[in-house]
Amino acid sequence: MTNNKIYFIANWKMYGTLKSVQSLKNVIKLKRKRIYKKAKIVYCPPYTLLGEFSKSIRNTDIELGAQNCHYNFDYGAYTGSVNSKMIKNIGCKYVIIGHSENRVSGENDKVINLKIKSSISEKLKVIFCIGETLKEKRKNKTNSVLKKQLINGLNKIKIKDNIIFAYEPVWSIGTGLVPKSNDLENQVIQIKKFIKKRFRIKNPIVLYGGSVNPKNISILKQISSINGFLIGGASQNPKKFIDIIKKTIN
Ligand code: PEP
Repeated sequence: MTNNKIYFIANWKMYGTLKSVQSLKNVIKLKRKRIYKKAKIVYCPPYTLLGEFSKSIRNTDIELGAQNCHYNFDYGAYTGSVNSKMIKNIGCKYVIIGHSENRVSGENDKVINLKIKSSISEKLKVIFCIGETLKEKRKNKTNSVLKKQLINGLNKIKIKDNIIFAYEPVWSIGTGLVPKSNDLENQVIQIKKFIKKRFRIKNPIVLYGGSVNPKNISILKQISSINGFLIGGASQNPKKFIDIIKKTIN
């Protein structure tokens, strides 16, 4: 890991009730300790809990993010949807865009591009997810898939300072499988190289996501090119989430 800020983004997916807001308590306590200053902890609960989380993290060093937003920049007749203005208004600083679980249900690069544009217009930080499927990996298409996702997702976006990248191999999400350390290190190096050259971002932040847990974190944290983690399942359990943070920083 680098010596800079280390990201721990908790993606709660479609889990959590009002009661689960209590699980923040111990994470807030942990974050107050000086040693965890360089841990950047961002909670991304479902929309229904953003308000409660927003209240709970007030006056703490923990930040809030949404798991998605609508592609329309403004308010409108889109039943069941939430736009970037609403996310910003409730206290979010971040938004996850392009998650593979949304890509499989029809979110294409064009829509992702609009969502990124609308989020940037609200000065939200975008956690832009990219990743290949197992089929694509087996056909040696990983690099071309990632490049296409990056180029299309960032099409005609001039200001890229607020974009954080999350490399999430689809075959690794929720499966317990993680790439071999060498492969992951090389992949992230290649992603960074491409981003630097193509988009002229000097020091891109690239996170890894996919089955990160307290058992594999000691190995994953040794991968120097990674700037942190996007954590799904394990982040919903405060004990596991804290364990991951402790093992990474200590
Ligand atoms: C995710 O939802 O982005 C994710 C990485 O999930 P998990 O950690 O459960 O694999």
